[in-house]
Amino acid sequence: MLNSSSELLDNSSDEVLVENQKQYVSELRERLSVLRNLSELADDMICFEKARQIYRIVHSIKGSAPILGFDRIGSMAANMISEWEWTQEEGNEPERQVSLQLQFVESARVLDKFLPELEQELESHTSGIRPSNVQASNRNMDSDIQLAKRILIIEDDNILRGYLARKLFLDGYQVDEASNVEDAISLLRNHHYQLITLDLMMYPKSGYDIFEILKEDMMIRWIPMIVLSGRDDIRDKLRCFQMGADDYVVKPFHYDELCARIRRLIERNQEYNFMAFHDPLTGLFNRRYMDKQIQLELARVNRYPSPITMILLDIDYFKMINDNFGHQIGDVVLQSFSNILTSQLRKSDMIARWGGEEFMILMPGTRDAEAVSLVESVLTHVRENPIFDDHTRNIFITFSAGVVQWRPQSSVTVWTRHADFALYKAKRTGRNRVVKSSLRKTVAKKILVVEDDRVLRRMIVELVNGCSEQVLEATNGLEAYELLTKEDMDLCILDFNMPHLDGLAMLRRVNQEGIVSKRTKFLMVSGNESHDNIKTALTLGANGYITKPFTFPELKKKVLSLLQQR
Ligand code: GH3
Ligand code: MG
Ligand code: MG
Ligand code: MG
Repeated sequence: MLNSSSELLDNSSDEVLVENQKQYVSELRERLSVLRNLSELADDMICFEKARQIYRIVHSIKGSAPILGFDRIGSMAANMISEWEWTQEEGNEPERQVSLQLQFVESARVLDKFLPELEQELESHTSGIRPSNVQASNRNMDSDIQLAKRILIIEDDNILRGYLARKLFLDGYQVDEASNVEDAISLLRNHHYQLITLDLMMYPKSGYDIFEILKEDMMIRWIPMIVLSGRDDIRDKLRCFQMGADDYVVKPFHYDELCARIRRLIERNQEYNFMAFHDPLTGLFNRRYMDKQIQLELARVNRYPSPITMILLDIDYFKMINDNFGHQIGDVVLQSFSNILTSQLRKSDMIARWGGEEFMILMPGTRDAEAVSLVESVLTHVRENPIFDDHTRNIFITFSAGVVQWRPQSSVTVWTRHADFALYKAKRTGRNRVVKSSLRKTVAKKILVVEDDRVLRRMIVELVNGCSEQVLEATNGLEAYELLTKEDMDLCILDFNMPHLDGLAMLRRVNQEGIVSKRTKFLMVSGNESHDNIKTALTLGANGYITKPFTFPELKKKVLSLLQQR
């Protein structure tokens, strides 16, 4: 008797099905013997716990048996489960509950008598099958194009999991399997999936535990998830949707229906992803995508060590193009430059628009020296070929770039900052060049922000956080003075006008007492200070000044350039 669910399956996977059925029968035999032992244990004290264990086994049979073509055993199990759920209803007398549980334990044995019948069914089906290798492999080739779509099946029922994995594989998906929460998390952290199917009832950790972890992880919270559950219970459904599931499918299900849901969810998510992770003007990846991708690439590098290099690239004097030719031509130049990057670099290089006319490129499997030569060849190309040409005018551009190879144990912030340093060095030393920097040579930078205006201080601290290892704060000159006597700073951003000890007086004092090393640079922040005050500050050893109101990019430029000075 091979019935409704299996008739829906096509010939090409008959063999897969029979193989799975065989495995299922042997697995079932084991499960039934566990059930038999459990129900024979005559110990009323552990009745509830015993019933719970039986429940778990029967519940899993209810979900998997019909999918593999064993509908009768499936509906038997389903009846038992609803009986159990009835014993759990509130309001039943305790004595009544115990007797219902005993009945439940008793009925577990009934499943046993199905085993010979199952084996018979299987035998008759196996003999009627024609080999269909050819069909199966053709199908694989047809759907090779989908292989990039990777699915993770989280399911503790080995047979159901194996069956789903093979079916999805035949439908062209790349499939990974996890039988428990820990394996699932580790796979999720190391690979990129287009979809997850999640079994709710697992042991000891349940599918619900995965939701908690997913919610916190920026990288995986967006992956579409279909809950596969044996419980057709509105409370479970609501809870899953509330926690972020995209679909809830009750076991037993028809494979074809599940597959259709999977296909649609993946398609829709890919459309959304395109919008969420691409820059509309250039079609390149955006910063959001790159932030995510850096983490993924580093996870990969940690697992399978190989070089990876980051490049930050900024078009030189781009403002002049806007000023001279208009913003629209500026946009065309950005598009055209993006096309050049895409066509000149390799497929494996990830190119993103990082800001206005700034780009980030990640080159997996590439050392810094090779990255420099690749980027230099792009620079040569744009130097020699007009980026815009409408027969009346030719526009040429150049760019500056900073190149840094990843070093294990570094951090993304430090890596990005170094690429930024290298880029500014390229700008400072004449633009139109590629500068390589190494994570090894640099020392941790410490910055002290001295500013009495609380809001402004917070903003400056946030800005310079990306430029240094450590940022300290002081609200007046006296506090700053005390900090400077204790710690060596690389940079002190110093407001002129402050209570207790103003910036100029503080600078004078540390200067007279000779308490700061040459390493410490001072950047004065002036409000409406007279020119004389600024001059005095410079003679007292200040290395630069910036006038309020300033823009944050301006401040950042000054900070980076002072941090680079020896
Ligand atoms: P530098 O060599 O120091 O990088 O000089 P720059 O002029 O390229 O740099 P700056 O940061 O002073 O100016 C960048 C300009 O890029 C200013 C901004 O108006 C322009 N820009 C940013 N985004 C876009 C955009 O999407 N389209 C256009 N047309 N211009 C943009
Ligand atoms: Mg389960
Ligand atoms: Mg620029
Ligand atoms: Mg710029």
